[in-house]
Amino acid sequence: MLMNMKDLLRVANEHNFAVPAFNISDYAMLNGIFEAVEEKQAPVIIAIHPDELSHTKPEIIKAITEKAYKTEVPVCIHLDHGSSLAQIMLAIKSGFTSVMIDGSSLPLEENIALCQEIVKVAHSVDISVEGELGTIGSTDAEAEAGENEIIYTDPDVAKRFVKETGVDTLAVAIGTSHGIYPEGMEPELQLDLLKEIKTKVDIPLVLHGGSSNPDQEIGRSVELGINKINISSDIKAAYYNKMREVLKDGSLREPNTIQPPCIKAMKEVAFHKIELFNTDNKAKLY
Ligand SMILES: [Zn+2]
Repeated sequence: MLMNMKDLLRVANEHNFAVPAFNISDYAMLNGIFEAVEEKQAPVIIAIHPDELSHTKPEIIKAITEKAYKTEVPVCIHLDHGSSLAQIMLAIKSGFTSVMIDGSSLPLEENIALCQEIVKVAHSVDISVEGELGTIGSTDAEAEAGENEIIYTDPDVAKRFVKETGVDTLAVAIGTSHGIYPEGMEPELQLDLLKEIKTKVDIPLVLHGGSSNPDQEIGRSVELGINKINISSDIKAAYYNKMREVLKDGSLREPNTIQPPCIKAMKEVAFHKIELFNTDNKAKLY
């Protein structure tokens, strides 16, 4: 079942769970994620960053759309970290059902103006829009985006931002970073801040940089009202760590021999996230 983000996360907001947004730029991993969510009967967001879309090419969206129509599980196809009108238009043209416009590094007034422009275009064709306020950190060179310094989301500004832009979901900065945390770096989520934002903003809230945070904090953030959590590094690390092991056997050559054990390792991580986010068996609510 293909859906936009607004309809998908409305149910998550009502029933207090978070839908995982798995970043995909590889066909075998895409199939593995579909298998995982079907097995767990969990709604899912397939997130694709503009750099990932350059890698897969936009035609992959046709295949994802086809798969979404065939499955009973709710699926949203979401552009992660769009940064310009051109990227948003390409996403809409390619068949995404949801887009993120990330103006978080801009001054507030410019971020608001950019979101207003995107909301006007996207909503006219029933595509939902995610905005971002505050900055998410970045831990390594492979991370998709992020700043060296985290600027936490101000709850009062969030209230104004949502009202003035009309965005459907809001990515908040409460202490996460994109990528895998280096040894010795302990992320600590500002859960009191999340509580305060939730009292002022009634649209679904999004957590970026959800990989390698302690499970207990992530679980608590779901209880406190996070409805979408982005997972990119964790599934990719599981997949490629396994692949490094498999490829020690230098006689292997065929993707259909090499990839299945890697997909299995990735699915284990996906299962764990789905349970942690309280998303298993939630497809029946749609
Ligand atoms: Zn992100």
